[in-house]
Amino acid sequence: MKVVVIIPAAGLGTRMLPASDAKSKKPSASKQFSELGGTPILIHTLRKFALSPEVSEIYVALRANEIAGFRTRLENEAGNLSKKKVELVEGGEHRQQSVAHAIAAVSAAPDDIVLVHDAVRPFVTEEIIHDVIKAVRKYGAAIAGMPAMDTVKQVERISEGAVITATIPRERVVMAQTPQGFRYSVLKKAFDEATADGFLGTDEASLVERSGHEVAVVMGSPRNIKITTPADMELAEFFLKK
Ligand code: C5P
Repeated sequence: MKVVVIIPAAGLGTRMLPASDAKSKKPSASKQFSELGGTPILIHTLRKFALSPEVSEIYVALRANEIAGFRTRLENEAGNLSKKKVELVEGGEHRQQSVAHAIAAVSAAPDDIVLVHDAVRPFVTEEIIHDVIKAVRKYGAAIAGMPAMDTVKQVERISEGAVITATIPRERVVMAQTPQGFRYSVLKKAFDEATADGFLGTDEASLVERSGHEVAVVMGSPRNIKITTPADMELAEFFLKK
């Protein structure tokens, strides 16, 4: 049984830009290529999985115009990435499509495990990767998550912002992180059904939940942040120094 990792890294990262640039969706500023301590975030993330003894293969979904440059970068990184197979595939318009393209490129048996991990979460640990894999072996589907620290409100959007419609009991909420892991057969079925129904989710678990499969949650980490805004970048620099 092998473990395959998919890293969607084809986002535009417009939330990393000043508002004026974000509106124009400038194509030059993918957040996964922002440098942290002189190394692109995506390389930091890739190293974590390349160095995990449980991982066999890695698929990275990239924007078409970034594939050639990244291939060259990977060749220079060879020593730091062990001898693991790293395949580059073209991403899609949404994260779900980027992951779907990678799934289409993967060759796996029904029982093999597929982990999906955001390119922009470079502080994932060996322990979290291991815990998610272990839970997937047991439950067929599992994600890393964190208990909610803030009180969570459900709202209705209005032109000036939002009004609260309900307070969701905190003990019933977890904040979803990645890795999100699944038996290949479970993930493939969920993606096929979502495609057939035109459903677009913001993570893989939401597709698997709607296909009727239970998804377990294991403890993530408060450091396993998704670098999304310039403020996250400052926090990431701080974590890296420690
Ligand atoms: O934009 P979002 O926060 O959903 O990004 C999460 C991850 O999905 C990032 O690593 C980003 O590069 C990736 N993504 C992708 N293809 C897209 C949009 C996002 O691979 N079309």
